[in-house]
Amino acid sequence: MSEDAAIAARLSTVRARVARAEQTAGRPPGEVRLMLATKTQSAAVIRAALLADTVACVASGLVPVLLGENRVQEAVTTATGLADLHPQIHLIGPLQSNKINHALRAVDCVQTVATLDLAGRLSLRCATTDRVLDVMVQVNVSGEPTKSGVPPEAAVDLATQVAALPGLQLVGFMTIGANTRDTGLVLAGFSRLREVRDELVASDAPGAATARELSMGMSGDLEDAIAEGATIVRVGSAVFGSRPPA
Ligand SMILES: *Cc1c(COP(=O)(O)O)cnc(C)c1O
Repeated sequence: MSEDAAIAARLSTVRARVARAEQTAGRPPGEVRLMLATKTQSAAVIRAALLADTVACVASGLVPVLLGENRVQEAVTTATGLADLHPQIHLIGPLQSNKINHALRAVDCVQTVATLDLAGRLSLRCATTDRVLDVMVQVNVSGEPTKSGVPPEAAVDLATQVAALPGLQLVGFMTIGANTRDTGLVLAGFSRLREVRDELVASDAPGAATARELSMGMSGDLEDAIAEGATIVRVGSAVFGSRPPA
């Protein structure tokens, strides 16, 4: 099997996992969007995945995949190399303030806002260029020190302030699940993110009503995330194979 055919086959396996998890959770088919976490994949490989997915979506009526990029420079390369396919690209890795201008040219959403400082800088840049950027607040639900994100206790407060900033539209929350085989812990973390989202949306704070997205779940735990209400799952290795060494 060619590499392109292998990607298409793995993509359809992942689509089937998502559909089964939606069904198990009693959620409408197609409610969960699939994001490809492209990590270091070349534009040619990402193109093959996008084209295979587009064909499958015509048949199934599903919404085509979103792309998630960890690094601003790679987001720029993907946006440029795949401009003819008009992919929606989200930044899912950390954003340094000196890369904001580049990021704004390449991405449709920044999922990794974890400080008011970064939100303020993005807001200023967007407001002065008459742009509205979608953002998510990244929450560290597991408390693992290697993970980015605001602690859950502080998430509603930060999100309330972000939602009120000009030039930004808060669309939801993002997290990386606990790195453990203990499914109970993983589920509890995802459930915590849902509670944060529900509390914010119920708060009537300015800009809070649109913050409905829950970006959570990856190759190893997407079923758990969908059971707890994920609206976007971010899948890398299950589609592209295990990662090349960094
Ligand atoms: C790599 C990555 C993913 C995808 O992880 P897989 O386990 O390869 O599916 C999702 N989200 C983020 C933020 C990532 O860095």
